[in-house]
Amino acid sequence: MDKLIVSFLETQYGIIPSKISKMEGYENVNFRVTANEKKYVLKIYKGEESFEFLKAVDDVLDQLTDQFPKSIPTKTGKKVLSIQIEGKEYYAQLLTYLEGTFMGDLTTDETILNSLGSFLGKMNANLLSYRSPHIEARNHNWDNQNALMNEHLTSHIKDHSKRRLAEYFYLQFKEVVVPFQYQLRKAIIQGDANEWNTLVQNGEVTGLIDFGDISYSYLINELAIAVFYALFDKENLVESACQIIKTYHQELPLEEKELEVLYYLIAIRGVVSVCNSTHQASLQPDNQYITVSQKPAWEFLEKWITINPFFAEDEFRKACNFKEKNRSNVNELLQNRNKVMSKSLSLSYKSPIHFEKAALQYMYTADGNTYLDAYNNIKHVGHCHPKVVKAIQKQAATMNTNTRYVFENLTNYASLLLDKFPDKLNKVFFVNSGSAATDAALRMARVHTNRKAMLVMEEGYHGNTSAGIDVSHYKFSHQGGEGEPNDSFTIPLPTTHLQNNSLNQTQWKTNLLLSISNAKTIGLAGFIAEPILGCAGQVPLPNGYLKLAYELVREAGGVCIADEVQIGFGRTGKFWGWEHHDVIPDIVILGKPMGNGHPIGAVVTTSEIANSFDNGMEFFSSFGGNPVSCAIGKSVLEIIQDEDLVQNAIKVGEYFKHKLEELKDKLSIIHDVRGEGLFLGVEFRRSNETESITPWIKEELKKRFILTSTDGPGNRTLKIKPPMIFSKKNVDEFISKLNEILSGLEN
Ligand code: PMP
Repeated sequence: MDKLIVSFLETQYGIIPSKISKMEGYENVNFRVTANEKKYVLKIYKGEESFEFLKAVDDVLDQLTDQFPKSIPTKTGKKVLSIQIEGKEYYAQLLTYLEGTFMGDLTTDETILNSLGSFLGKMNANLLSYRSPHIEARNHNWDNQNALMNEHLTSHIKDHSKRRLAEYFYLQFKEVVVPFQYQLRKAIIQGDANEWNTLVQNGEVTGLIDFGDISYSYLINELAIAVFYALFDKENLVESACQIIKTYHQELPLEEKELEVLYYLIAIRGVVSVCNSTHQASLQPDNQYITVSQKPAWEFLEKWITINPFFAEDEFRKACNFKEKNRSNVNELLQNRNKVMSKSLSLSYKSPIHFEKAALQYMYTADGNTYLDAYNNIKHVGHCHPKVVKAIQKQAATMNTNTRYVFENLTNYASLLLDKFPDKLNKVFFVNSGSAATDAALRMARVHTNRKAMLVMEEGYHGNTSAGIDVSHYKFSHQGGEGEPNDSFTIPLPTTHLQNNSLNQTQWKTNLLLSISNAKTIGLAGFIAEPILGCAGQVPLPNGYLKLAYELVREAGGVCIADEVQIGFGRTGKFWGWEHHDVIPDIVILGKPMGNGHPIGAVVTTSEIANSFDNGMEFFSSFGGNPVSCAIGKSVLEIIQDEDLVQNAIKVGEYFKHKLEELKDKLSIIHDVRGEGLFLGVEFRRSNETESITPWIKEELKKRFILTSTDGPGNRTLKIKPPMIFSKKNVDEFISKLNEILSGLEN
């Protein structure tokens, strides 16, 4: 090979090299050539580049200063020529050699980042009006505007949290960038100003090589790509990004629209990079280098999603001296809200939070903060999960109708859902909320038994309709409630954490039998309970309790209703909460997580009960079971399965509980840690307290950007029920902040 190169250089260029060494290259083979004390780079293109394209790139380089590689003409004046190697034809080019250290070999500081910005700004300004039909006609997958050409590669990402992250940014690219792409300036850009293409001398960027990814793209992509690579080793990502943006803007003023999409263009470059490297890794499973080299890109993306995009944009604008963007203001919104809404719709926190966007387990406020969501169980598979969003968009654009017509989605989804139940629970009724499901379930129990009385648990909650409130001790026995209705019979909680003792089996049985005998005076229709009581303060029912209760209720002729609205769909580490208790209910109520925030609820029951309910009166819900809801419900079930989220709830939930128990051993203020999977409760108590400290802890967590809530009698329990995609890293953040708050208290 070397001999061939030597003779090629001599015949074509008249150069007699004193030294030739092979250089690392992504696709092409490059040689460093020294001759007469001068250095050159001989490039041999192994890719798909055409002669016309290489010529077109050469013409671009001719426009630029000698800080860029320049081609050396052959003796006959050719700048690109063909070379035969082992019987195959390649194109070759001899280029000037640029001195300097690769940026990747340095720890970059503000001066280098500033110089990178101005270097790129100058280069882009120089090419702004340059036209090249060959380059403009080129369409390749590394051009950031073509990011979606790589979307299918997400299937190679095996780690669920990483795949979800990549898919999230593709979704945002489609939502935030694509609709506005025609408003973005286009220009010929180098499109790959990464740390191994950028040369530094004396603390300043002085050269850029490798124009293989050149494209006619959004101008702002030049900056987006450079920023992505420059941030790898940085602590403060936005501050470092601004050091590049600011000086770029001084050379080539940016437009506001460009800054509006920059955050997502930076992200999408990272995503395109990890998608391609993961694909490569799947083709070369033994190549450790690929896996290692993609690590910083993944770390970057995991960090980038925790940065509020409004904050990033505001900082980018400041770096370019644009005036502050007008964003909606929390006080104004509150004033308007109070005008049109009743105060009975309560707000969380003393000073309410104004959210405008959310991403998986994070929520972004309008004023630039990012909260870790450890509370919103409804966003079961994560806020704006890309697959759920896709399902909504696709079905909403296709058709939405109701169950009086036949359509595939309904039966598909119903079958998928019923697959999650034991055989005897084989009929489903779709509604739009947990409350509507409770309401329908109560009607079914009553029609089936032809009786009225319902047994309910102390501190249980099942819905906001009149019938729902009537079976919710949490509502009827507290402020504003009218007390126990005539046809509801409350069973005392068997686990009375608040009095610090638990009843034994004989006492449960006595309580159950007493409530049943009271109910029987008007005729027992059924028993409704959550297997872990959420509103009571995440209170699990003790082992054997539901089994005994179901037996006694059935003996008395009642049916058993399990409310899985809060804990269903895998949250507790089993798909349904009742599975912890070795029972099978007669009726199940579903809601909250079922549609990941879209209003869907359902009642699942036996054929016998469904037959009794079919008594001549039509059951119709205008929205229940509509095609859009079914598409969403189906996507949620598929995600739980594909992303192994029940397993995640077990793994992360156990870790979370263990970490909380460790804190409990250390800090006397933690009275109890309870719950299963990602449905946890922490009860705080101080000696001689007159008022619970837990709401204060919730506020302190909020100050540290973590969302939780309080519940249970006296609001003593901190409720933790994050999206099921919560990670151990998220747990560590939660624990470290809780520890900080509680240690401060104990001191
Ligand atoms: N059951 C339980 C256990 C609940 O927690 C809730 C809501 N908090 C409901 C039923 C009612 O659901 P929805 O708010 O969707 O009507």
